Amino acid sequence: MENSKGIRIAKLVISLIAIIGLLVYSKEFFLDEVDENSGSEQVNQPVSESTVLPVLSPVPAAKKTLEELVAAYGDIPIIDAHNHNAGSSKYNAMLEVWDKHSIDRVVLFGAVSEPVAVETDQLAWRAYLEHPDRFIPFFSGVNLLEESGIETVRANLEKGYFGIGEIAAASIHSPLLANVPWKTKHPMDGVLPQIYELCAEYKAPLLLHIDPLNGVVIDKLLEAVEKYPDTTFILAHANAYNSPGHVELLLEGRPNLYADFFAGFTAFNKDSEYTLEDYVPVIKKYPDRFLLSTDSGFGLESEEVAIEAVYQLIDALDDRELAKQVAYDNLDALIQQQPVTATQLAAIDALNLKEVDRPDMKSLSKVEAAKIIYAKQ
Ligand SMILES: [Zn+2]
Repeated sequence: MENSKGIRIAKLVISLIAIIGLLVYSKEFFLDEVDENSGSEQVNQPVSESTVLPVLSPVPAAKKTLEELVAAYGDIPIIDAHNHNAGSSKYNAMLEVWDKHSIDRVVLFGAVSEPVAVETDQLAWRAYLEHPDRFIPFFSGVNLLEESGIETVRANLEKGYFGIGEIAAASIHSPLLANVPWKTKHPMDGVLPQIYELCAEYKAPLLLHIDPLNGVVIDKLLEAVEKYPDTTFILAHANAYNSPGHVELLLEGRPNLYADFFAGFTAFNKDSEYTLEDYVPVIKKYPDRFLLSTDSGFGLESEEVAIEAVYQLIDALDDRELAKQVAYDNLDALIQQQPVTATQLAAIDALNLKEVDRPDMKSLSKVEAAKIIYAKQ
């Protein structure tokens, strides 16, 4: 990190020297013009583009550092919508980093669509009990190929988890997920259709890993999205190996499909063919359908780099309201809309609260119910 900081400072110094040089050069250039034409009408004539462009275009804007970006945008609340750090040593180590870079909340889970995910789901839950304002626990330890998977989903949503994922609804190329035992072949395979129905009942979203993002698996995703209009589907890292035009095509006319935007991939992965700026028009077209995430810095130098990319995207949006919407409000709305579950109601009943302390059980949300249950323990 020290090294790259040094390089950045060196680049900045070179850029500044170049700017000063060009300014001096251009000033002399224009002064010469004025001198030559002193007193004549020509002085006030507009300078043609061909005269101006060669002076301005060679100097790119200096890239802002993460510290500068956090200073500029740290007041905008941010939820990382996709994070694998459920292991306690992992999330405890990250708390300081999230604080430092103003990441307010984190959608937390661990392993994906394999038996060990059952354990990491429990760790995500524990993290949530320890830091309820920081973590939004999701779960992935679901056998998507057997009936038992449906019961796991119901039990976890009843308990108070806020979403399913990341799950492998299709994976052919991912080095990590192509061979996990609980993945489905495509988004209409296994017990996924029944799980979609359950998610609609609980108003809980699903974060689906799908690769590749074309062919049969995408046809099946669109089939699912259309067949289950009351289910919220979040396409994990929708911008990875996917063009802005294709993201736009997927979102068009499908209000229950959201795009998880893994800014770090576009900004820093060498396989990315696009820039963050390339995605700004589609984000502006569907501002209520994007969520921002780090994917724990998958494939990058560090998670911190992925956080830097989130801020770079916020900078590229150049619209603080829109930034808040995609960085926080969209995901927060998906969590707040979830109603209290029967299991939570039973837990509140068991608290034997005094009549005055009893909440209005009918209008209670899952978030509010959890606050009551866990505040009393
Ligand atoms: Zn992931």
